[in-house]
Amino acid sequence: MEASSAKNTTYDIVVIGGGPAGYTAAQYAARAEKKVLLLEKMFSGGQIATTDILDNYPGFPEGIGGVDFGEALEKQARKFGVEISFDQVDELSLESEGTFLTRTAKETYATKVVILAAGVNPRMLGVPGEKEFVGRGVSYCATCDGAFFQDRDLLVVGGGDSAIEEAIYLTRFARKVMIVHRRDELRAVKFLQEKAFRHEKIDFFLSHRLKEIKGHNSVEVAILEDLVTKEEKQLKVDGVFFYVGHDPNTSFLKEISLSSTVGGFIETSEKMETEVPGLYAVGDLRVKFLRQVITAASDGAIAAMAAVNFLEE
Ligand code: NAP
Repeated sequence: MEASSAKNTTYDIVVIGGGPAGYTAAQYAARAEKKVLLLEKMFSGGQIATTDILDNYPGFPEGIGGVDFGEALEKQARKFGVEISFDQVDELSLESEGTFLTRTAKETYATKVVILAAGVNPRMLGVPGEKEFVGRGVSYCATCDGAFFQDRDLLVVGGGDSAIEEAIYLTRFARKVMIVHRRDELRAVKFLQEKAFRHEKIDFFLSHRLKEIKGHNSVEVAILEDLVTKEEKQLKVDGVFFYVGHDPNTSFLKEISLSSTVGGFIETSEKMETEVPGLYAVGDLRVKFLRQVITAASDGAIAAMAAVNFLEE
């Protein structure tokens, strides 16, 4: 598509993604008097809006609900003049003169700066039965679906922070929560591990893998394999929640191929610059040591200030 056919060329910066990283970038740039459009495909907050409570963000000693936090991000960004459109980005391309075209089904936006803040998507494990039972017992979001499993038996797959945190959350509803993890130790932080090990409703299957999910209309049985003895076990379960990591949400970067990536995650400079001038990456889709709301927000602030300087150079 030609730059001249872009319908809307009035923004300085397009931010793709409305999680903590995107909203912080948008807010900082708008406060620096840039005209900013933020595009979000679903709802404000991103992943944090699917979390029950955010309890480690400084300044909130009682914690804050994930949905409330997302709404607050949006409200604050609007206050500083960020325009927000709930619209999915289908494609981002770069014209020869250094103009990015951000294309949605409704519109195409031409800007000199784009900040990638689209986060990550939950990874599928790919076991038989997983795809077939999505929405019929298989889920990737405890906050969204947990309440459907009152007094039921659930299996959580994974050993990271997400798996353990969400397994603990699911105990509010479930009769029993079983966690299956492929190694004999968990990846999650010690504090979460101890909380889960102490929990009377949680059982562990360490050094096991989920082999298959079976059922008729919905999930009924999970087949596990003991990775040490190779023995198979059949567990009667009503739901399976997957937390086996995430993949970066960058599929819309079809024709901008970045060479500095690790497993699809984007490498940036300290200023959040990618290898393409004017293109910044922030939050969970970036290669980084710590994926937290606070580091996402930090990325956003840095990218915004770097982008403002880039535009004013
Ligand atoms: P993660 O840390 O990458 O953990 C993924 C888990 O899934 C690991 O235990 C991994 O096993 C397991 N796994 C991956 N592939 C698998 C496979 N093919 N078969 C079986 N198991 C598999 O992902 P996450 O828990 O979603 O966390 C993502 C990031 O967000 C992390 O940086 C985390 O610290 C952060 N986070 C923080 C909080 C918090 O602070 N409250 C909450 C949620 C997430 P191995 O351990 O054997 O690799």
